[in-house]
Amino acid sequence: MARYTGPSCRLCRRENMELFLKGERCFTDKCAIKRRNYAPGQHGQARVKVSPYGIQLREKQKVRRIYGILEKQFRGYFQKADRMKGVTGENLLFLLESRLDNILYRLGFASSRTQSRMFVRQGHFTVNGRRVDIPSYQVKVGDVVALREKSRSIVAILESLEAVVRRGIPQWLELDKDTFSGKVKSLIVRDDITTPIQEQLIVELYSK
Ligand code: SF4
Repeated sequence: MARYTGPSCRLCRRENMELFLKGERCFTDKCAIKRRNYAPGQHGQARVKVSPYGIQLREKQKVRRIYGILEKQFRGYFQKADRMKGVTGENLLFLLESRLDNILYRLGFASSRTQSRMFVRQGHFTVNGRRVDIPSYQVKVGDVVALREKSRSIVAILESLEAVVRRGIPQWLELDKDTFSGKVKSLIVRDDITTPIQEQLIVELYSK
């Protein structure tokens, strides 16, 4: 399946919540969810009874859209999470949170995960001193991510670092603005993910 290239706000309206896909705009009154809080399309305002399967499907789509993952790759994450020790749903979220593009977004190097993915692909970042241009790269505890020296004048990154105060940095990450670097301090735990996600619904969907 090809990557979705339509309007991001439409996805938020479909999932009936802010997915924060458009950076700073998401924090302004221009946010589509604040202005038109109903599903897109002709029947968007109609009352629709959703089946249990529909609820599970929507939850999976929501998480996929938050992290910007294609269906096939998302299923791959689920299978990996299922093979890991612990709770499958939580493992799934931990794998998604450990992606390099997500870590950089969480640290404030980008205003959205989409932008973060683009910066990574352009080769602006290193992990433990080595250039990494794979957005799905799994960052581990103790790893240090950093903005390359030649990329430290990119305005979009600098602006994003200034604005990160608004979002806040999760306690399992540590940002050092002086050296343009960040570190994964500790293992992530479920309570660290504050986005309203019911991962059990995704487990139920894929376990059918
Ligand atoms: Fe979603 Fe951001 Fe668009 Fe609001 S502005 S609807 S949070 S993508």
